[in-house]
Amino acid sequence: MTACMGSQSFYPSLSQASGGGSIVKFSNCVCMVAAALAMMLVVAASEEISMTADQALKNLMDGNARFVSGQAIRPNQGSDRLAEVVGGQHPFAVLVGCSDSRIPPEIIFDQGIGDIFVIRTAGQVIDDVALGSIEYAVEHLGVKLVMVLGHDSCGAVKATVDGGEAPGHIGSLVKSISPAVEAARSDGNLSVLDQAIDINVRNIVEQIKGSGPILSHEVADGKIGVVGARYNLSSGAVHLVD
Ligand SMILES: [Zn+2]
Repeated sequence: MTACMGSQSFYPSLSQASGGGSIVKFSNCVCMVAAALAMMLVVAASEEISMTADQALKNLMDGNARFVSGQAIRPNQGSDRLAEVVGGQHPFAVLVGCSDSRIPPEIIFDQGIGDIFVIRTAGQVIDDVALGSIEYAVEHLGVKLVMVLGHDSCGAVKATVDGGEAPGHIGSLVKSISPAVEAARSDGNLSVLDQAIDINVRNIVEQIKGSGPILSHEVADGKIGVVGARYNLSSGAVHLVD
């Protein structure tokens, strides 16, 4: 699981400028420029935080379209971005995805440093720790969109479909995915694996929406959106799972 939580301050540069002893050696002009730059960062951060769920979803899907078409712009990946985010993070979306090494979120959505808050486990299954990470992003970072991203040929789902022994902690993954596989076996025309992949995404979306007291409350109030999606390993395209 990856869920790096940086310190949050809207005024990192301002607080440093007023409290740092070495800063007094700077000229007033330099201080004013530093303050102005800090304010610019504050404005930028506020703009990111105010992004609605719909805007965030469009941002992700537009980025995926660029990736698929070979027109990725690879934003926010330079040293200037490091300077922008050193004082705090303001991601516009939470991505709950599979740990599968073929699906790196920042690449397939054409995003950069500080853009998406990522939680990855095999089969993108979630537990209390993952839910706590999502809650942190929603409550403390102001993120309005949570996307659950499954994918074709998911090894974790396939292992659950195939059955057999699940040694060590792998059994926990199988246990989490089993309801989706059981539902898929009694349904539909597609293969059990294909069905189970989508059902597993839907189950996790519902798990997040129903997680009290924080996330269920945010969903009920319409303050955050939770969507399911699926990644195609061949094309690189992401489509929403209803
Ligand atoms: Zn997978």
